Amino acid sequence: MSEIHDPQTLRPADTSVSIAPSLQDNHIVSTSSKVAVATAHDVPVLMYHHVNPHRGMINSSPENFERQIAALARAGYTSLSAAEFAAFLRGAPAPKKSVLITFDDGYLDNWLYAHPVLARYNMRAVLFTVTGWVGDGAPRAHAGQTTALAETYAHKVGRGIIESGDTDRVMARWSELEAMQAAGTFEIHSHTHTHTRWDYVCRHSTAEKIERLSSDLELSRDLLRSKLGINSGHLCWPQGYFDSDYLDVARKNNFTHLYTTAAYGQNKVGTDPEHIYRFAISNMNGLRLLNRVRLARGAVVGPAYNAYKLWKRKIRGKDNAH
Ligand SMILES: [Zn+2]
Repeated sequence: MSEIHDPQTLRPADTSVSIAPSLQDNHIVSTSSKVAVATAHDVPVLMYHHVNPHRGMINSSPENFERQIAALARAGYTSLSAAEFAAFLRGAPAPKKSVLITFDDGYLDNWLYAHPVLARYNMRAVLFTVTGWVGDGAPRAHAGQTTALAETYAHKVGRGIIESGDTDRVMARWSELEAMQAAGTFEIHSHTHTHTRWDYVCRHSTAEKIERLSSDLELSRDLLRSKLGINSGHLCWPQGYFDSDYLDVARKNNFTHLYTTAAYGQNKVGTDPEHIYRFAISNMNGLRLLNRVRLARGAVVGPAYNAYKLWKRKIRGKDNAH
């Protein structure tokens, strides 16, 4: 495959709001005779939570996040929009090196640290926000504007602050979500309204579980519509938990693309959009990130790596049982 047939090489540097290349770019590929359509075999979906200076399992430092995004950009990866990713699962072509970058929960540090980096490298991400934790007020200054930034917290400390009711110290505001949406760095989707595990809370009543989850999804969907004008069918499950009742409730609320925390599978044409695979990215440098993405991709390496990891997990599970 000649490089010229890769839509990546034909994409002009674009600093406008519409960051990802239009899928129409692929007409260049499909009109070239005798050359197979250069489309992605699969699209790895990356999962982030925090970008801040604290240590933690689900934190990336601002420096390493910049290294990761820079490495992806330099290696020619395109970060898809949720709509482009959905179209790919339905059979539309996507650039060969495509990823979907996702963030869970909607922390303030995403605005302070991740947004300016994404803007700098013309990359985009999807933010699954807990709509009940989003506050009002003017946007705070981000790292692209000043070094005097609002304080950020390690994950557990932040969760304690949220539980105490002071969510605004930890979470992004509506004005910040709106600014990121306008800049094209983040598009906003639902991570429910309250981030509650209704399967735990209502473990004695399935009817109550269904009712509470239903209003959780409804509230979230309606708020995204009224506050940001978003009509989203993309939903990320809190803590990755779902069951058949959860799936029914999501369908009834018009959520068509459901994001899991299952790491070892590929998102390909025809993959069930109600079971989208994602793997977590921790505080690693750019090279390690590229290696992790390479291990996830392709017709040969990706399936072999995933099978190995699942096998290892099974063996470990057996070990634990003894
Ligand atoms: Zn979450």
